[in-house]
Amino acid sequence: MRQIIDRQRDFFNTHKTKDLNFRKDQLRKFENVLRSNENRIFDAVYADFKKSSFEMAVTELALLYNHIKEAKKNLKNWARSKPVSTNLLNFPAKSYIMPEPLGVCLIIGAWNYPFGLSLSPVVAAIAAGNTAIVKPSELSQHTSKLMASIINENFDPSYLTVVEGGVAETTELLEQRFDKIFFTGSTRVGKIVYQAAAKHLTPVTLELGGKTPAIITKDCNLKMTVKRLVWAKFLNAGQTCIAPDYVLIDRSIEDEFLQRVKKEIEKEQYSIENDNYTQIINQQHLERISKLIDPDKVCFGGKIDTSNNTIQPTVLQDVMFDDNVMKEEIFGPVLPVISYSDLDQVIEKVNGLPKALSCYVFTNSKRIKKKILKKISFGGGAVNDAVMQITNQNIPFGGVGHSGFGSYHGEAGFKTFSHYKGILEKPTWFELPLKYFPRSSRKLFWIRRIMKL
Ligand code: NAD
Repeated sequence: MRQIIDRQRDFFNTHKTKDLNFRKDQLRKFENVLRSNENRIFDAVYADFKKSSFEMAVTELALLYNHIKEAKKNLKNWARSKPVSTNLLNFPAKSYIMPEPLGVCLIIGAWNYPFGLSLSPVVAAIAAGNTAIVKPSELSQHTSKLMASIINENFDPSYLTVVEGGVAETTELLEQRFDKIFFTGSTRVGKIVYQAAAKHLTPVTLELGGKTPAIITKDCNLKMTVKRLVWAKFLNAGQTCIAPDYVLIDRSIEDEFLQRVKKEIEKEQYSIENDNYTQIINQQHLERISKLIDPDKVCFGGKIDTSNNTIQPTVLQDVMFDDNVMKEEIFGPVLPVISYSDLDQVIEKVNGLPKALSCYVFTNSKRIKKKILKKISFGGGAVNDAVMQITNQNIPFGGVGHSGFGSYHGEAGFKTFSHYKGILEKPTWFELPLKYFPRSSRKLFWIRRIMKL
């Protein structure tokens, strides 16, 4: 590990990665490597948890290609120094902010979108002019192996490399000094990463999880709400960090909502009998999710196929905030529904939980929309939709509080992997004498005047 990092640091110190043409070439090469290996990528992800090639193409590769396209298109603008105004005391001078790469970056990925989550930050790291070591999740083992093979065969390890491994290897990596650590995963491991980074004062971005609420009010477009919600919840068998974790619904429309949800699940063919339905990543997670299903509260689904590691889309009704299913992030195809009669109480309840990565509001009322967006703190979300915010590169993607900090996608990713150096540049033909000896009350008076103090 040490050797790889030292070699990357040596390469970074050659300043080659700071050249914009070099960065663009690497982005092109990165894209070519992905495009020429698409079929192998589909096979690996399917082997890991039966994720279909359609879902893989739409939710991972399309986003990755989009990140690359945006980075290539905007790189020159993102990387240029930006002028800022200069204060009177420094007259005459100019001031500007100059982005520079951080150096050697460690990117640790999660298994649920195994290609996208490990490689999208790489696009940002390359664009910003860094070198990177990627550590994909060991739980999606076929993907991890393939990623290591296609990246390591095509890139010089002193610039970009994939290191495979689980807890032991990641712990060893985390003992080393990096210039940036970008972590995607659970809040529990996020704390371990943050502590390890603190020893070297390494800046970190933590992309973590949490319980994302979907709040549905009685004046919503129920048909569209259900359609979008069901898609977002059961995509990837609920193993999506920004999937709606639970629903809060106005009591007066609860029955109609539940009926429609059942029909929509059937229509969308999310079923353990369907070969296109994603598996739960492993037996441990299958058991964990199964325990969250209270049989007395199942309104739809509840079937578990241990031989195929699948859980039927399951809807729970009459759920209370202190039920077990509300005590941890579900990260599976189980949707608890809590009904409410007082929206303000609901907002208070949500604010009593750790801050979520996302929040979705389904309403046609401007007043309610504003109230929820203003009163609930969360990473980022959507109004009258769910999950789709991730496809807009102009929206920074990241958490707050327990769901993490820092963000990426589009320019936010470039910023995350950059340091912004502030520079004051002065000519030498003039100097205000005010700050020099001899000091006097008159000089102080003028300094105050100029600074408007
Ligand atoms: P995880 O935290 O178990 O693992 C993430 C990474 O950390 C893996 O690469 C793993 O090898 C490593 N790791 C695990 N234990 C470690 C330890 N003790 N020390 C050092 N490294 C360790 O998370 P996961 O199960 O892969 O992913 C699920 C979680 O990630 C969910 O909470 C989900 O919400 C979150 N997530 C967040 C985002 C986001 O963008 N915010 C995206 C996907 C998943």
